[in-house]
Amino acid sequence: MVLESTQVFQRNTAARGKVLQAIERQTGHFTAEDLSQQLPGVGRATVYRTLGVLTRSGYLCKVLLGGNTLHYQVSPEEHHHHLVCIECDRIVDVESCEVADYARETALAQGFQLQRHRLEVYGRCPSCQIG
Ligand SMILES: [Zn+2]
Ligand SMILES: [Zn+2]
Ligand SMILES: [Zn+2]
Repeated sequence: MVLESTQVFQRNTAARGKVLQAIERQTGHFTAEDLSQQLPGVGRATVYRTLGVLTRSGYLCKVLLGGNTLHYQVSPEEHHHHLVCIECDRIVDVESCEVADYARETALAQGFQLQRHRLEVYGRCPSCQIG
């Protein structure tokens, strides 16, 4: 996803720009705390707020890892789901979605207007399986 094409930049500030640069430097997934520690000059509220904006815009996806810690990672543009390894916290993006109908029907059955759904599948990745 091209960042400039999102509306995130319309209310850009210097601090938010620093957060974005730090996010672009991350190689894998990261927590808000990781990011905050790399940005000593930026307030935590700004870090959290920027992460929230970027997650809602689809630039980042968030995944709950072992120990119930929320991690962020730069997202592919397409709607996708996650396979999460419970041993090494590896996150694999899965770009096929087989549950769209289920999500729509479930929402409809309770009178909800569907907005989005998320699905994470947890297990052991090939390199974490024992013999
Ligand atoms: Zn993802
Ligand atoms: Zn693993
Ligand atoms: Zn889906």
